[in-house]
Amino acid sequence: MEDCEVFFSHYVFTEDFDVAKDIKRIERWKKLKASYSHLVMCMGGSRMVVVTGGAGFIGSHLVDSLMFKGFHVRILDNLSGGDVGNVERWFGDGRFEFVEGDLKDFCVCEKAVDGADVVFHLAANPDVRLGESDPSVHFRENLLVTFNVLEAMRKSEAAKRIVFASTSTVYGEAHAFPTREDYGPLLPISVYGAAKLGCEGLISSYCHTFGFSGVLLRFANVVGGKSKHGVIVDFVRKLKQNRDELEILGDGKQKKSYLHIKDLVSAFSAVLPCLERVGVVEAFNVGSLDWVDVKRIAEIVCEEMGIQPKFKFNNVLGDGRGWKGDVKTMQLSVEKLMGLGWKPTVNSEEAIRQSCRELLKQN
Ligand code: NAD
Repeated sequence: MEDCEVFFSHYVFTEDFDVAKDIKRIERWKKLKASYSHLVMCMGGSRMVVVTGGAGFIGSHLVDSLMFKGFHVRILDNLSGGDVGNVERWFGDGRFEFVEGDLKDFCVCEKAVDGADVVFHLAANPDVRLGESDPSVHFRENLLVTFNVLEAMRKSEAAKRIVFASTSTVYGEAHAFPTREDYGPLLPISVYGAAKLGCEGLISSYCHTFGFSGVLLRFANVVGGKSKHGVIVDFVRKLKQNRDELEILGDGKQKKSYLHIKDLVSAFSAVLPCLERVGVVEAFNVGSLDWVDVKRIAEIVCEEMGIQPKFKFNNVLGDGRGWKGDVKTMQLSVEKLMGLGWKPTVNSEEAIRQSCRELLKQN
């Protein structure tokens, strides 16, 4: 009975429950109890979670999903890349808090993580190209910010679980495809990838040194509505200015994996049980099961816009890359994540097509 009470204090059944008469339900409940933590985390209840960067593209989709699951959600965002409009639907809901602040300020971090059960750390400058002109941005906005978040968590009473938004760029130019999580050595070719790898290292060390539990999610290219950067956004913007010609950075043969945002959001749910293992950090790739080249992406965007512009390839670097730090080929092995029951619902081409439609609809 005691366990039963603990269970029900976190998870509310709507049906009547009579212990004496319903043996089958007790048996079922015993099984559920074994995955008690998973249930509480996946189905909501009173748990408070923090989403740094929650007003951004990926963050706001994650916030929607967490709110629908019944969590109390606190967003921390400085709105440098995000938009309040992405989460305004939740204003006025008692389970939702929006804190505007910059995570480079340690006091902000302390307030942000206070009382949090899980910190989903997504705040970052995601512009890979920027590293070429100003490497210090990635040092500050990614590495320093992550260090501040971890330090604030270390000093807090509650917050000891972290899910981190990492990236395929930590692999640099991998030689094995699809690339598995245990691939090495990890030699990023962009400052962004290097900063993210540094963040992964810090999180791993905090898990082992201070008893945190951590999940590192290495995303492929994520696409979908509300996105403000990336190849589709770039093509749509250029084509709106000039419907006759499209500049494509690089030789158009860069081949990568694209994941629709809805498949990324379901990956967050799939990894939550991993956070129950104290002192452990786990890395998971998240991507689709195939790849698509940039020229094909351009064709899909044009099909969706109903136009036939001339393609102009801007291969200034001479090696086919769009910019210094652009990884030419990327496909991640997602077998490990699929072992947790997750799988992508669309392939790379379909993810591009759906996202293009979503972006065109919202503009
Ligand atoms: P985004 O720019 O839409 O979201 C990032 C959010 O972080 C923004 O809302 C921004 O305002 C906020 N932010 C930035 N610096 C901050 C600071 N110092 N303090 C507080 N808030 C700050 O980008 P996104 O595409 O949603 O990316 C989310 C995360 O996923 C990032 O960590 C990014 O590196 C990672 N990621 C994205 C992709 C992708 O394809 N979009 C791929 C791999 C990894």
